[in-house]
Amino acid sequence: MADNIKQLIENKYNEAYKTNSLFFNDVETITKTNSNNGMMYWIRFAPSLLVKPERGDTPSNEDPLAKHEPELLVLPTLGPQLSDDDFKLVLNKFPVMPFHTLLITNKYIDQKSLLTPTDLYTCSKLLTQMNNNNDGNTPHLIIYNSGPHSGSSQNHKHLQLLQFPSDGTHSTFIPFQDRLCNDKQPFIPTKDLTPLQDKLVPFAHFVVPLPANPSMDHLMTCYVSLLQYILPYFKGSMHPSYNFILTEKWMCLVPRSNIRAKSLPVGFNSIGYVGLVMIKELQSLNIIKQNPNLIDQLLLECGFPQ
Ligand code: AMP
Repeated sequence: MADNIKQLIENKYNEAYKTNSLFFNDVETITKTNSNNGMMYWIRFAPSLLVKPERGDTPSNEDPLAKHEPELLVLPTLGPQLSDDDFKLVLNKFPVMPFHTLLITNKYIDQKSLLTPTDLYTCSKLLTQMNNNNDGNTPHLIIYNSGPHSGSSQNHKHLQLLQFPSDGTHSTFIPFQDRLCNDKQPFIPTKDLTPLQDKLVPFAHFVVPLPANPSMDHLMTCYVSLLQYILPYFKGSMHPSYNFILTEKWMCLVPRSNIRAKSLPVGFNSIGYVGLVMIKELQSLNIIKQNPNLIDQLLLECGFPQ
């Protein structure tokens, strides 16, 4: 893996932003804390996402992630070349924050596929590199939205690399999973040793703290163990829908029941389940500003109760 990926992403993003090759506007961002459970929300009003294709908008014979735009290509290969686990790095055309990057398999693989040991190891190494070259800024996360209700919009297998928000004007953002794993020793979940869960957070979630520099085996065993906890939510279904979230400190899986909430027209993918909430319509933003605790309800409507 190249050792200057953060710089390559930043250079490509700045260029693409200047030439209008991607759609990003930061109209308004607010931070709120849920008064029942302390979950932090970073809420961005993002009308630019109204032009982002949603699930079903892309014709089935089109694959915009395979046919990436050259202005968005950061690196043509990342993993072991010519293997199924080989990714290219492409800037997200509709970033939710600056430098939002996609890891797209070079060969077509379905987004419903499981992550492989190499996928997990590549992601872990990439996170370490991104965080080490970070000048004390907030850490990065990698997400995978898998299955029809996970919030994924493209069928070509892709993970997404983002940074937790910090722009100086808002307090440091701490996802609830960080609090949950604070001072916890790494472990591998078993039938008896359950993953960590915050009892005050209403949607089902399963978190495991990770050691520094985890091995490929360790990452895969954690992932497979967490999958055992979400599969019971999908009895009889061929394709479980779940969000996978990886940081250097923990891995989290969230089983998903719906793309969009019922109480308000707000949809979520993995980033919603760390508290990063994108709102496309002003009316919804105003309702949420009045009552930020409502976000818990929306996340629950798209997940499952604990
Ligand atoms: P998901 O919605 O989780 O499937 O992620 C797919 C991502 O691809 C979304 O975040 C979109 O913003 C992004 N996307 C859609 N079309 C393109 C494109 N032509 N080039 C780059 N990124 C895209």
